[in-house]
Amino acid sequence: MTDLSLAQDGRVRHWLLDAALGGIVALAAITLAHAARPEAPAPLAQASPPAPVQAAPSPEEPPILIAFQDPVPGRVVVSPFGLRQLPWEEGGRLHAGVDIQAESGEAVRAAADGVVVEAGQSSTYGRYVALKHAEGLTSFYAHLGAVSGHLRRGMAIKAGEAVGKIGSSGVSTGPHLHFEIRDSRDRPLNPTLFLGREFAEAGDLPLRKAQRFARTVRIAQVSTIPQSKRALMEAKLEKQEMAKAVRLAEKSGKAPPAVAADAAGAARDAVAVERFEGLKVLPSGDDGRPRAQITS
Ligand SMILES: [Zn+2]
Repeated sequence: MTDLSLAQDGRVRHWLLDAALGGIVALAAITLAHAARPEAPAPLAQASPPAPVQAAPSPEEPPILIAFQDPVPGRVVVSPFGLRQLPWEEGGRLHAGVDIQAESGEAVRAAADGVVVEAGQSSTYGRYVALKHAEGLTSFYAHLGAVSGHLRRGMAIKAGEAVGKIGSSGVSTGPHLHFEIRDSRDRPLNPTLFLGREFAEAGDLPLRKAQRFARTVRIAQVSTIPQSKRALMEAKLEKQEMAKAVRLAEKSGKAPPAVAADAAGAARDAVAVERFEGLKVLPSGDDGRPRAQITS
Protein backbone atom coordinates (compact mmCIF):
# COMPACT_ATOMS: atom_id res chain seq x y z
CA MET A 1 0.00 0.00 0.00
CA THR A 2 2.64 2.39 1.10
CA ASP A 3 4.81 1.54 -1.90
CA LEU A 4 1.99 2.08 -4.34
CA SER A 5 1.02 5.44 -2.94
CA LEU A 6 4.65 6.46 -2.90
CA ALA A 7 5.01 5.45 -6.51
CA GLN A 8 1.90 7.37 -7.48
CA ASP A 9 3.05 10.33 -5.52
CA GLY A 10 6.38 10.12 -7.29
CA ARG A 11 4.68 10.03 -10.67
CA VAL A 12 2.51 12.99 -9.84
CA ARG A 13 5.48 14.97 -8.71
CA HIS A 14 7.32 13.99 -11.85
CA TRP A 15 4.48 15.22 -13.97
CA LEU A 16 4.27 18.47 -12.07
CA LEU A 17 8.01 18.97 -12.41
CA ASP A 18 7.81 18.32 -16.13
CA ALA A 19 5.00 20.81 -16.49
CA ALA A 20 6.88 23.40 -14.49
CA LEU A 21 10.05 22.88 -16.50
CA GLY A 22 8.03 23.07 -19.71
CA GLY A 23 6.60 26.35 -18.54
CA ILE A 24 10.01 27.75 -17.74
CA VAL A 25 11.35 26.69 -21.13
CA ALA A 26 8.38 28.27 -22.86
CA LEU A 27 8.82 31.50 -20.88
CA ALA A 28 12.52 31.58 -21.67
CA ALA A 29 11.76 31.13 -25.34
CA ILE A 30 9.29 34.03 -25.29
CA THR A 31 11.74 36.23 -23.44
CA LEU A 32 14.48 35.38 -25.92
CA ALA A 33 12.20 36.08 -28.85
CA HIS A 34 11.38 39.45 -27.34
CA ALA A 35 15.01 40.29 -26.77
CA ALA A 36 15.94 39.26 -30.31
CA ARG A 37 13.35 41.54 -31.85
CA PRO A 38 14.97 44.56 -33.44
CA GLU A 39 14.52 47.77 -31.49
CA ALA A 40 11.34 49.39 -32.58
CA PRO A 41 11.79 53.01 -33.59
CA ALA A 42 11.15 55.37 -30.72
CA PRO A 43 7.56 56.62 -30.81
CA LEU A 44 6.83 60.25 -31.38
CA ALA A 45 7.96 61.03 -27.87
CA GLN A 46 10.44 63.68 -28.90
CA ALA A 47 8.06 65.33 -31.32
CA SER A 48 5.27 65.94 -28.85
CA PRO A 49 5.91 66.20 -25.09
CA PRO A 50 3.84 63.88 -22.95
CA ALA A 51 0.42 65.21 -22.19
CA PRO A 52 -0.01 66.51 -18.61
CA VAL A 53 -1.39 63.95 -16.22
CA GLN A 54 -5.12 64.21 -16.07
CA ALA A 55 -6.72 64.03 -12.65
CA ALA A 56 -10.20 63.01 -13.69
CA PRO A 57 -9.82 59.50 -15.13
CA SER A 58 -7.57 58.15 -12.33
CA PRO A 59 -8.93 54.94 -10.80
CA GLU A 60 -11.49 55.72 -8.15
CA GLU A 61 -10.17 55.45 -4.60
CA PRO A 62 -12.72 54.85 -1.88
CA PRO A 63 -12.95 57.78 0.51
CA ILE A 64 -11.53 56.96 3.91
CA LEU A 65 -14.12 57.14 6.64
CA ILE A 66 -11.65 56.61 9.45
CA ALA A 67 -8.01 55.53 9.65
CA PHE A 68 -6.26 54.40 12.80
CA GLN A 69 -2.61 54.64 13.60
CA ASP A 70 -0.47 53.55 16.53
CA PRO A 71 -0.78 55.96 19.46
CA VAL A 72 2.88 55.35 20.30
CA PRO A 73 4.51 54.56 16.97
CA GLY A 74 7.08 51.80 17.08
CA ARG A 75 6.01 50.51 20.47
CA VAL A 76 4.33 47.21 21.09
CA VAL A 77 1.40 45.98 23.11
CA VAL A 78 2.69 44.22 26.22
CA SER A 79 -0.69 43.49 27.74
CA PRO A 80 -3.56 42.52 25.44
CA PHE A 81 -7.29 43.14 25.50
CA GLY A 82 -9.42 40.48 27.16
CA LEU A 83 -10.30 38.61 30.29
CA ARG A 84 -7.65 38.24 32.95
CA GLN A 85 -7.18 36.85 36.36
CA LEU A 86 -4.41 37.40 38.84
CA PRO A 87 -3.51 34.75 41.42
CA TRP A 88 -5.16 36.63 44.25
CA GLU A 89 -8.41 37.25 42.40
CA GLU A 90 -11.47 35.07 42.56
CA GLY A 91 -12.92 35.80 39.16
CA GLY A 92 -11.60 37.19 35.93
CA ARG A 93 -12.10 40.71 34.76
CA LEU A 94 -11.90 42.50 31.49
CA HIS A 95 -8.84 44.44 30.47
CA ALA A 96 -10.80 46.91 28.39
CA GLY A 97 -7.83 48.06 26.35
CA VAL A 98 -4.22 47.33 25.59
CA ASP A 99 -1.08 48.42 27.39
CA ILE A 100 1.70 49.82 25.27
CA GLN A 101 5.07 50.03 26.90
CA ALA A 102 7.15 53.11 26.17
CA GLU A 103 9.62 55.51 27.74
CA SER A 104 8.48 58.35 29.96
CA GLY A 105 8.07 61.52 27.98
CA GLU A 106 7.47 59.86 24.61
CA ALA A 107 4.70 61.47 22.62
CA VAL A 108 1.26 59.86 22.70
CA ARG A 109 -0.56 60.55 19.45
CA ALA A 110 -4.20 60.67 18.44
CA ALA A 111 -5.01 57.32 16.84
CA ALA A 112 -7.44 58.93 14.37
CA ASP A 113 -8.95 62.27 13.41
CA GLY A 114 -11.40 63.34 16.07
CA VAL A 115 -12.60 65.77 18.65
CA VAL A 116 -11.43 66.10 22.26
CA VAL A 117 -14.25 65.02 24.56
CA GLU A 118 -12.28 64.90 27.78
CA ALA A 119 -8.84 65.75 29.09
CA GLY A 120 -8.55 65.23 32.80
CA GLN A 121 -7.28 63.23 35.71
CA SER A 122 -8.59 60.31 37.76
CA SER A 123 -7.17 58.37 40.68
CA THR A 124 -6.90 55.12 38.72
CA TYR A 125 -6.29 56.26 35.15
CA GLY A 126 -4.13 59.20 36.10
CA ARG A 127 -3.95 61.90 33.46
CA TYR A 128 -6.05 60.90 30.49
CA VAL A 129 -7.48 62.10 27.20
CA ALA A 130 -10.61 60.87 25.43
CA LEU A 131 -11.29 61.56 21.76
CA LYS A 132 -14.42 61.05 19.71
CA HIS A 133 -14.14 59.78 16.13
CA ALA A 134 -16.33 58.90 13.18
CA GLU A 135 -19.16 56.42 13.79
CA GLY A 136 -19.32 57.30 17.48
CA LEU A 137 -16.05 55.53 18.26
CA THR A 138 -13.95 56.91 21.09
CA SER A 139 -10.31 56.42 21.94
CA PHE A 140 -8.93 56.74 25.43
CA TYR A 141 -5.32 57.41 26.50
CA ALA A 142 -4.47 56.87 30.18
CA HIS A 143 -1.58 57.05 32.71
CA LEU A 144 -0.15 60.01 30.82
CA GLY A 145 2.77 61.90 32.31
CA ALA A 146 1.28 65.07 30.86
CA VAL A 147 -1.68 66.10 28.74
CA SER A 148 -0.83 68.39 25.84
CA GLY A 149 -1.41 71.91 27.07
CA HIS A 150 -3.36 73.09 24.06
CA LEU A 151 -6.10 70.46 24.33
CA ARG A 152 -9.55 71.83 25.01
CA ARG A 153 -12.88 70.09 25.08
CA GLY A 154 -14.59 70.18 21.70
CA MET A 155 -11.41 70.92 19.84
CA ALA A 156 -10.72 69.09 16.57
CA ILE A 157 -7.60 66.98 16.47
CA LYS A 158 -5.78 65.30 13.59
CA ALA A 159 -4.53 61.71 13.62
CA GLY A 160 -0.93 61.69 14.79
CA GLU A 161 -1.22 64.92 16.72
CA ALA A 162 0.29 64.67 20.21
CA VAL A 163 -2.33 64.45 22.95
CA GLY A 164 0.17 63.96 25.75
CA LYS A 165 3.29 62.25 26.96
CA ILE A 166 3.93 58.76 28.27
CA GLY A 167 3.95 58.55 32.04
CA SER A 168 2.89 56.42 34.95
CA SER A 169 0.18 58.53 36.56
CA GLY A 170 -2.72 56.93 38.42
CA VAL A 171 -2.48 53.31 39.48
CA SER A 172 0.39 52.07 37.38
CA THR A 173 3.72 50.37 38.00
CA GLY A 174 5.75 51.88 35.24
CA PRO A 175 5.63 54.11 32.19
CA HIS A 176 3.11 52.81 29.67
CA LEU A 177 0.00 53.84 27.79
CA HIS A 178 -3.33 52.24 28.57
CA PHE A 179 -5.21 52.63 25.30
CA GLU A 180 -8.87 51.87 24.65
CA ILE A 181 -11.26 52.10 21.73
CA ARG A 182 -14.98 52.02 22.52
CA ASP A 183 -18.05 51.89 20.33
CA SER A 184 -20.94 54.36 20.32
CA ARG A 185 -22.52 52.47 23.24
CA ASP A 186 -19.34 52.74 25.28
CA ARG A 187 -18.54 49.06 24.91
CA PRO A 188 -14.81 48.34 24.87
CA LEU A 189 -13.41 46.99 21.61
CA ASN A 190 -10.16 45.21 20.93
CA PRO A 191 -7.92 48.05 19.70
CA THR A 192 -5.55 45.73 17.87
CA LEU A 193 -8.26 45.15 15.25
CA PHE A 194 -8.28 48.87 14.42
CA LEU A 195 -4.70 50.05 14.68
CA GLY A 196 -2.84 50.43 11.41
CA ARG A 197 -6.02 50.04 9.37
CA GLU A 198 -8.32 52.33 7.44
CA PHE A 199 -12.01 51.85 6.90
CA ALA A 200 -13.92 53.28 3.97
CA GLU A 201 -17.37 52.40 5.26
CA ALA A 202 -18.99 51.97 8.61
CA GLY A 203 -19.77 48.40 7.61
CA ASP A 204 -16.03 47.68 7.38
CA LEU A 205 -15.46 48.44 11.03
CA PRO A 206 -14.83 45.17 12.87
CA LEU A 207 -17.27 46.15 15.61
CA ARG A 208 -18.63 42.73 16.44
CA LYS A 209 -15.34 40.95 16.12
CA ALA A 210 -13.58 43.54 18.27
CA GLN A 211 -16.16 43.11 21.01
CA ARG A 212 -15.52 39.42 21.32
CA PHE A 213 -13.01 38.07 23.74
CA ALA A 214 -12.10 34.59 24.79
CA ARG A 215 -14.35 33.21 27.49
CA THR A 216 -11.41 31.45 29.08
CA VAL A 217 -9.64 33.59 31.61
CA ARG A 218 -5.95 34.13 31.07
CA ILE A 219 -4.00 33.75 34.26
CA ALA A 220 -1.35 36.31 34.80
CA GLN A 221 1.97 34.72 35.66
CA VAL A 222 3.15 37.33 38.07
CA SER A 223 6.71 37.13 39.25
CA THR A 224 6.46 40.34 41.21
CA ILE A 225 3.62 40.64 43.66
CA PRO A 226 3.02 44.09 45.08
CA GLN A 227 3.29 44.49 48.83
CA SER A 228 -0.35 45.53 49.17
CA LYS A 229 -1.59 42.44 47.31
CA ARG A 230 0.82 40.22 49.18
CA ALA A 231 -0.50 41.46 52.51
CA LEU A 232 -4.06 40.83 51.36
CA MET A 233 -3.19 37.34 50.25
CA GLU A 234 -1.41 36.55 53.50
CA ALA A 235 -4.30 37.89 55.55
CA LYS A 236 -6.74 35.77 53.56
CA LEU A 237 -4.67 32.62 54.03
CA GLU A 238 -4.25 33.32 57.73
CA LYS A 239 -7.98 33.80 58.12
CA GLN A 240 -8.64 30.50 56.35
CA GLU A 241 -6.12 28.70 58.56
CA MET A 242 -7.64 30.23 61.65
CA ALA A 243 -11.16 29.24 60.62
CA LYS A 244 -9.97 25.70 59.96
CA ALA A 245 -8.23 25.52 63.32
CA VAL A 246 -11.31 26.81 65.10
CA ARG A 247 -13.53 24.26 63.33
CA LEU A 248 -11.18 21.44 64.29
CA ALA A 249 -10.99 22.67 67.85
CA GLU A 250 -14.78 22.84 68.10
CA LYS A 251 -15.08 19.29 66.82
CA SER A 252 -12.53 17.88 69.24
CA GLY A 253 -13.68 20.06 72.12
CA LYS A 254 -10.15 21.36 72.66
CA ALA A 255 -8.99 24.95 72.79
CA PRO A 256 -7.98 26.28 69.36
CA PRO A 257 -4.22 25.89 68.80
CA ALA A 258 -1.96 28.80 68.07
CA VAL A 259 -1.92 29.13 64.32
CA ALA A 260 1.53 29.22 62.86
CA ALA A 261 0.55 29.03 59.25
CA ASP A 262 3.21 29.76 56.72
CA ALA A 263 0.90 32.23 55.12
CA ALA A 264 3.75 33.93 53.35
CA GLY A 265 4.60 30.67 51.58
CA ALA A 266 2.56 31.46 48.52
CA ALA A 267 4.23 34.81 48.20
CA ARG A 268 7.71 33.73 49.31
CA ASP A 269 9.43 34.71 46.13
CA ALA A 270 7.50 37.87 45.71
CA VAL A 271 9.27 41.15 45.36
CA ALA A 272 7.64 44.28 46.64
CA VAL A 273 6.50 46.76 44.07
CA GLU A 274 5.28 50.16 45.15
CA ARG A 275 2.16 50.35 43.03
CA PHE A 276 0.34 47.92 40.87
CA GLU A 277 -2.54 48.32 38.50
CA GLY A 278 -3.59 44.73 38.81
CA LEU A 279 -4.33 43.15 35.51
CA LYS A 280 -3.86 46.25 33.52
CA VAL A 281 -0.13 46.51 33.75
CA LEU A 282 2.87 44.33 33.23
CA PRO A 283 5.33 45.73 35.74
CA SER A 284 8.61 46.60 34.14
CA GLY A 285 12.04 46.32 35.65
CA ASP A 286 14.91 48.75 35.51
CA ASP A 287 15.82 47.28 32.14
CA GLY A 288 12.40 48.33 30.87
CA ARG A 289 11.28 44.74 30.29
CA PRO A 290 8.04 43.45 31.69
CA ARG A 291 8.52 41.24 34.70
CA ALA A 292 5.11 39.68 34.52
CA GLN A 293 3.75 37.67 31.66
CA ILE A 294 0.25 36.88 30.54
CA THR A 295 -0.26 33.40 29.16
CA SER A 296 -2.40 33.32 26.07
ZN1 LIG B 1 -4.23 48.73 30.59
